[in-house]
Order: sequence, then C-alpha cells, then structure tokens
Amino acid sequence: MAVKVESHDSFAIDEFEILPWNDNFNTGHEIIDEQHRTLVNLFNKLGRTLIEQKPADVISATDELANYANVQFANEEAIWLKYFDDDSWLKAHQYNHAAFIPKIKDLKEKNAGRPLSVIAEDIMKFLLRWLAFHIIEEDKRMAIAIDAVKSGASIEEAKIIANNEMSTSLHYLIETILNMYDDLSSRAIVLLRERNAGIRAEAQLKEANRKLAELSNTDQLTGLYNRRYLDVVFDRESRRALRDHSMLTYYMIDVDHFKNYNDNYGHPAGDMILEQVAACLKKTSRRPHDYVFRVGGEEFGILTTFQSEADANTFAEIIRKSIEDLNIPHEYSEVNIHITISIGGHCCTPAIDCKFKDYMEIADRRLYIAKTHGRNRVVMSG
Ligand code: GH3
Ligand code: MG
Ligand code: MG
Repeated sequence: MAVKVESHDSFAIDEFEILPWNDNFNTGHEIIDEQHRTLVNLFNKLGRTLIEQKPADVISATDELANYANVQFANEEAIWLKYFDDDSWLKAHQYNHAAFIPKIKDLKEKNAGRPLSVIAEDIMKFLLRWLAFHIIEEDKRMAIAIDAVKSGASIEEAKIIANNEMSTSLHYLIETILNMYDDLSSRAIVLLRERNAGIRAEAQLKEANRKLAELSNTDQLTGLYNRRYLDVVFDRESRRALRDHSMLTYYMIDVDHFKNYNDNYGHPAGDMILEQVAACLKKTSRRPHDYVFRVGGEEFGILTTFQSEADANTFAEIIRKSIEDLNIPHEYSEVNIHITISIGGHCCTPAIDCKFKDYMEIADRRLYIAKTHGRNRVVMSG
C-alpha cells in the first residue's frame, strides 16, 4: 500500500494510492493494459475523494469510474471477440461486464441515507474485488489463451494452457490479499481522513487568528498599526523606556495641503499618496522598537526611543526629508512642488504614570506650530 505520508507540511493526498499499479496487472495487450491503468487511476482518485470527504466529489468520481468502465468494456470485448467468437469464456466475461453498472447503481441505492463513509466503504470493497478479478484473473487468463491461439493452439487447448497457468489457488491467494487490503485501506483512509481534517482545521484556525489580530491592530489602507493599537504599544514602550532610562519619543506627522491634493487629483490618487507616505515612514523607521501608526485620515504617528533629544531631532529631520525626497508632484501645495509633511514631536523620559494623552497634546501643539510657520518642517520644542 503506497500511503505517502511525509512531513506535516508536505502531506500530499493527491499522491495517495489505495491500489498502486502492479506489473502483475499487465495482460501483455497494450491497449487493454493502458485502459486498465486508467481504471486503476480512477479507482485511486475515488479513494482520495473519500479521504477528503466531499460528497459531491465522491459521487462524481464514482460516476467517472463507472462511465469509463462502460467504454472500456466495449473496447475490450471487441478485441477478445476476434479470438473467442461465440465462446463460453467471452460470454462469462460479457456477463460480468453487463452486471457491473447495475451493481454500482444497486450499491448506491441500497446505501442511500447511510453515512458517506459507509457507502464509500461498500463501493470501494466491491470495486477493489472487481478490478482485481477482472484484471488479474479474467483478462489475464484470456490473454494467456490468446497467446496460445496465436502460437497455433486450438481454442480448447489454449483454455487448458491458460487454466493451468492460472491455477485455482491463485483465486484464493487474490481473495486473501484482498481481505488484507480491505483492512489496511479502510484503516489508512480513516487515518488520512483524520489527519487531513486536522491539518485543515489547524490552517483555518491560524488564518482566522492572523486575520483577527491584523484587523484589530492594523489600518486597512496602509497596513500600518492603527490608533487603537497605539494605546497598547504606548503603555508597553513607556514602561520599557522607564526601565532602560531611555527617552520615549512620539512624532505627530501630517501631510501638507492634502485637501488640495484630494480636491485636484481625486480621492483614489490621494489614497495612493497615503500608501506611499506610509511605506516610506515604515522603511525609514527600521529599528526594532520603532512603531509607525496611521492615527487618522492623513495623520501618522511614530513612537520610538532615543538616548538623547539631539538623536530624536535628527531622526525627525530624516523622516521629513525622506518624504520630500520621494518627489511626488503636488502642484496645489502652497509650500512646495512636491508632497511634504510637517512634524511635531515630543521626546522625554516618561513619568511613572505617564499617559499617551500627555505626549499627544504636546506633539499636537508643536505640529500646529510647524504648520503655522510654513509647513514641511519639524518642531520638537515650544
Ligand atoms: P494642512 O497642511 O494644514 O494639514 O492641510 P490639509 O489640507 O492637509 O489638512 P486638512 O485637515 O484641511 O485636510 C485633510 C484632508 O485629508 C481632508 C481629506 O480630503 C483628506 N483625507 C483624510 N482621510 C483621507 C483618506 O483616507 N483618503 C484620502 N484620499 N484623503 C483623506
Ligand atoms: Mg490633518
Ligand atoms: Mg494635512
């Protein structure tokens, strides 16, 4: 049994085969062997749908197999007819073929209303037996007889030769092996099914968690952290700054004359600017404890820590310049020919009971000063 179960991640159900092709299945007649191989493939495909437990797929895979079997019977009978005109063997073979489709139908009807796994098991057992005896016993026996006829034997002699080669003990051997197969394949299917369901559930859970976390922390347009998350990060970072004796710094950043941009280039173009500004701020703020937020429409915030006010001032200037250097045309800005930002910042060692509101009010006041003093500038005091 080729139960291909590799590592957890590379588990490949599409490679699982209940009945792997075996050279013993070859009758030596190319077209017939090819068709038998297709039948076996379709059987294995049906097996995989049972693992995945999608009822519609199970039904379509069963129908696909039954339909193909029907076509294959006609082809096969035509070939045998060349050698076994009106012979009892062919008649028995034709009889078996004719009984196949009604048997599948019967199995489906008899099982209607029972759980998919039970129906599937019955169908699989029947098919496995049918394939094994059809391919290994009957077709092979006929193939041996045909070869004998081709080498000059009469039909009667050919049948004796074939019967000798295909001894009765073979029938019991096949039956015994099939019983082992039944047991193993149903256990493998149950195991693989559980494993598959587990993997699917795990992936879905991970994705749901990821989405949930993302939704609650980030801004949809820019992918930056959102205003809500700022409160969380501020608490954590202010405690860390206190412990490390570093200077917690908050920059309030606002795009200059952005209303004019929207009014003239349109809202979608404005959105693209916000995305570009966000990406640039993110790229520039690359130390492990730099946090970039979109706090409102065209307003951004950066929370970070420094060892000195001078460092905080330098970084603010780097940010301002990085946006100006994007050289995004803004014909309707009154201060520049490109998109620019103004920054109001506050940098200090936090008080023990310090609140974000305290930082925000100071940064906001300085941003206002930056705006009224010509925009495209940084104000870190006053
Ligand atoms: P100032 O330099 O003083 O900041 O001028 P301003 O025009 O940038 O400021 P104002 O506050 O008057 O206008 C902000 C504009 O930002 C208003 C609105 O058209 C735009 N805006 C806010 N949120 C969004 C958004 O999500 N997408 C787009 N495209 N525009 C937005
Ligand atoms: Mg604004
Ligand atoms: Mg603005």
